[in-house]
Amino acid sequence: RSEAIEYVLKRAHDEKVRFIRLWFTDILGHLKSFSISISELEGALQEGMGFDGSSIEGYCRIDESDMMALPDPDTFITLPWRKKGEENVGRMFCDIKKPGGEQFEGDPRYVLKRMLKKAAEKNYTYYVGPELEYFYFKDDKTTEFQDQGGYFDLTPRDVASDWRRETVLTLEDVGIPVEYSHHEVAPSQHEIDIRYADALTMADNVMTYRLVVKEIALKYGIYATFMPKPVFGVNGSGMHCHQSLFKGERNAFFDANDPYNLSDTARQYIAGILKHAPEFTAVTNQWVNSYKRLVPGYEAPIYLSWARRNRSDLVRVPEYRVGRENATRIELRSPDPACNPYLAFAVMLAAGLKGIEEKYEVPAPVEENVYEMSEKERSRRGIATLPSSLEEAVHLMEKSELIRETLGEHVFNAYIENKKIEWAKFRAYVTDWERNQYLSVL
Ligand code: GLU
Ligand code: MG
Ligand code: MG
Repeated sequence: RSEAIEYVLKRAHDEKVRFIRLWFTDILGHLKSFSISISELEGALQEGMGFDGSSIEGYCRIDESDMMALPDPDTFITLPWRKKGEENVGRMFCDIKKPGGEQFEGDPRYVLKRMLKKAAEKNYTYYVGPELEYFYFKDDKTTEFQDQGGYFDLTPRDVASDWRRETVLTLEDVGIPVEYSHHEVAPSQHEIDIRYADALTMADNVMTYRLVVKEIALKYGIYATFMPKPVFGVNGSGMHCHQSLFKGERNAFFDANDPYNLSDTARQYIAGILKHAPEFTAVTNQWVNSYKRLVPGYEAPIYLSWARRNRSDLVRVPEYRVGRENATRIELRSPDPACNPYLAFAVMLAAGLKGIEEKYEVPAPVEENVYEMSEKERSRRGIATLPSSLEEAVHLMEKSELIRETLGEHVFNAYIENKKIEWAKFRAYVTDWERNQYLSVL
């Protein structure tokens, strides 16, 4: 038995674990789980546990539905919200294999691992620090605000600070260190920022985070949502992704002599992101609703530009603080928290690495507010925009060799097929907006 397996078996025993949840993710980023008894644990760790993959979105056809979930022992935790004396519940993330043990290429965790391997071949480690925003509502049927607080507000207007506090404590309890938490700009909107980690750990952490936020909300009889734009007229929820590449102990994005303290590598990375963002937006912003957030006036990006300060730009470079070379990073502002984090991190990295490989030239930064520029001025400066609908985004993705290669044939095709169906349903639907706009005048 390997050391990792011994470790899990010992912890499960010491922590009085009775059930173990095996977690994995479908292509849309929904968390999937099944539970095994403690008696099955050793076998599961050694050989994996079989399950029927035919009903998992984007996995496989009926005639090839047998799948194996092989738990990753490094991800073992016990679930604090299921603690019950002698009968605790453990959990591990799984890699998905075919019955013969071969890797299943539809598994999003594998897609990210494969991309990270490409980066590792160039001696890069990819770090991500996401800022997930979300809303608390009364339930999942209404969008009734639970507080009227605003940015950084504290009690008494922010009744949610207790909910946030317990969420932070629970995250730390499951080994996810938290750096900041605060009320966000919109009423009832919140943000908890976790400490950056390598991209695979972070994608797992994002999955855990979303569940923890929802579990704690449930405990207080409210509902937490990561829907990108639940309410018209106030900010939507983003998942800005701070990111950097390290070579060993050295931050490959840092250069003391550059005015922005960015190395050529960082500049090429930014150029890769700016160039390929239109192709990967269907992945980082995957729902019809995602595009209701990406509009002017709500601190969400629209323009393919970069700068130190502005919030309308796609990429922001947080100001360098002396002695903090390792904190040099770029912030991609377009992703939303309802994405599949494995696929989203894979496509961001692919775009950035492409910029490095091909030595893309980065355009000049745009420190003025791009929202306020005239269309003519923007086109003079060559500032393009993100796709404005899921339809446009899927269309651009479909033509992208880079995204096809990064996701692999299986995920690429299944994803596009799924998203085309979503768009077709929305397109045919008659909305309130249309009735309000047209019924009384036409
Ligand atoms: N909620 C804004 C968004 O949609 C971001 C606000 C902020 O800068 O944190 O991205
Ligand atoms: Mg924020
Ligand atoms: Mg941010």
